[in-house]
Amino acid sequence: MTAGALIEQARKVQPEWDALGVHGRVRALAELPRILLDNLDRIADAITGENGKPRAEAIAHEAVPAIALTRHHLEHAAETLGSTRITSPSSPHRTALRVHHPYGVVVAIAPWNLPFLIPFSQVLPALIAGNAVILKPSELTPEVATVLIELIGRCELPPGVLQLAVGDGAVGAELVAAGPDKVLFTGSVSTGRKVMAAAAQFPIPVGLELGGVDAAVVLDDADLEFTTSAVAWGATFNGGQACCSIERVLVHRDLHDAFVVRLEDKLRRIDTRRDLAPAIDQRQQDIWQRHVESARGLGLQVSGGEPLPERRYTPTLITAAPGHRPVTDSDAWREETFGPVVAVVAFDTDEQAIDLHNDTEYGLTASVFSADTARARALARRLHAGSVAINDVAATMYSTPELPWGGVGRSGFGRSHGVDALLDAAWVQIVESPRGPAFGPKRPWWYPYGAELEDAMRALGETFVAPHRSDRLSGYARAGRALLGMLSRSPKL
Ligand code: NAD
Repeated sequence: MTAGALIEQARKVQPEWDALGVHGRVRALAELPRILLDNLDRIADAITGENGKPRAEAIAHEAVPAIALTRHHLEHAAETLGSTRITSPSSPHRTALRVHHPYGVVVAIAPWNLPFLIPFSQVLPALIAGNAVILKPSELTPEVATVLIELIGRCELPPGVLQLAVGDGAVGAELVAAGPDKVLFTGSVSTGRKVMAAAAQFPIPVGLELGGVDAAVVLDDADLEFTTSAVAWGATFNGGQACCSIERVLVHRDLHDAFVVRLEDKLRRIDTRRDLAPAIDQRQQDIWQRHVESARGLGLQVSGGEPLPERRYTPTLITAAPGHRPVTDSDAWREETFGPVVAVVAFDTDEQAIDLHNDTEYGLTASVFSADTARARALARRLHAGSVAINDVAATMYSTPELPWGGVGRSGFGRSHGVDALLDAAWVQIVESPRGPAFGPKRPWWYPYGAELEDAMRALGETFVAPHRSDRLSGYARAGRALLGMLSRSPKL
C-alpha cells in the first residue's frame, strides 16, 4: 500500500476507535500485558535474531519493560486523558472543561537499537489516546515490528487502526509527506531535522527523541568500585548502541588515575561473545573505528578499540596522554559514537564539571556519582539533560514506566513514558460555559467602550497584585460590581 493509502485507511477507521472513549479503549487493550507475558520468548527471539543483542538484554531491557509500560498506561489513561474542570476567579460566572482529543492519524518512526520497546512506547500511548497509528520501524528490524503489531493486534482493535509500513527512510519520508496529524520520531539528529522540516510544510506537530553524548560525573567522594562497575555497564550494554549510553566520563582529579585503572580492567573482562551486542551493521562499526582512530591520531591513550569477528568489538577506553591534545577535542567526546567506546576527562571543581558536562549541544541523560546524595542532586539540577540518575545509570530509567523520557537541545523534545506520553498523544480543547443563567447580562466589555471600562479593568488588574487572598477576593467583587454598574449607566449594543 502507498503511504497515502495507509493514511486514508487510518483516517477511515480512527473515528470508530475514538468513539469508544478512553474507558472503552483501555478495555479493548486490557489483555495486552498478559499477551506480552505469554509471548516473552517470541519477542526475545525476534529481537535477538534480528538485532543480535544478548537474549538477557532483549528480555530485561525490552520485553518486560513493555509489560510494565502497558500496565502503567492502562492504569493512568482514564485519569490523565479524562476531562477535568477549570474555574477561575477572573471569570467567576464561567466554568471550563479541559478535554483531550486524539490528533487523528499518528505516524511513528522508530530506530533499530531497541527494536521492540521504542516503537511500542510510541504506538501504545497514541492508541490509548484514540489515534490510529502507522508504525514505520527501522529497515534493519522489520521482523520485530511485525511481532509487535501482531501481538497488539490480538486485542480488540478495529481492523486498520494499527498498521505497519515496512521500508527504508524513503518510506518514512513518504508517510510524513502524506500528511498525518502527528509524527513521533526516534532516531538520529540528522534524520530528525529532515522529519521536522517535512512536518513544517503543513505544519503538523512532531515529537523528536534524538541522540546524545551522555556523561557520568564522578565526584571526589564516589565509591570507585561501584562507580566503575556502573560505568562499564552503562557504556557498553547493547554494544553501546543506546541513545543514553555513557560516552563521556568526568572524574574528579583525585580519583582519576585509580578510576581509569579499574575501569580499564572491567572493560577488558567483559565477555564480548556472551554479553556484548555486536554492531548492528558494518556502517555502525566503521563509525566506532573512525572515532577510535581519530583519538589515536590525536595521541590519546586508547585501550581496546579492536574489531573482532562477527562485528564484535573490544570495549574501548580513551584517556588523556601528557603533551597531547585534550580528550575533549576528540570526536569520541564531541560526537555520538553509539558504540562500546567511552572517553574520560579529569576535573578539579564541581563548577568545572558542570561546565564540561554542558559544553555540548546534546542533552539526553546523565549520571552523577557521589556519597553525598544531596550534593549530587543539587549538581544534577544544573546539568543540561532530560534525565539525571544519581548513583546509577540513567538508562535504567527507560525501564521505569512512570518516568517521562526525553531530551533537551539537540537531543530533541516531547516525552515518551509516564503520563506525559499519554498527554503528548492528545491535543487539549477547552469548552467554556456559563455557570449561572444560560445568557445573563450583556458583557460590560462589549461596544460601546468608555472610560468606566478602563477604570474597572484597572481595579481588576490591582487584584492580581494584591498580597493577600482576602484582598484579592474583595477586589474581584469590587471590580465585578463596577463592571455590572456600567451596564445600567451605558447600555450595550
Ligand atoms: P536513523 O535516524 O538513521 O533512522 C531512524 C528511522 O528513521 C528509521 O526508521 C529510518 O528508516 C527512518 N528514516 C530515515 N530517513 C528518513 C526520512 N528522511 N524521513 C523519515 N524517516 C526516515 O536512526 P537509527 O540509526 O535507526 O537509530 C540510531 C539513532 O537513534 C541514534 O542517534 C540514537 O541516539 C537515536 N535514538 C534516540 C533515542 C531517544 O530516546 N532519544 C532512542 C533510541 C535511539
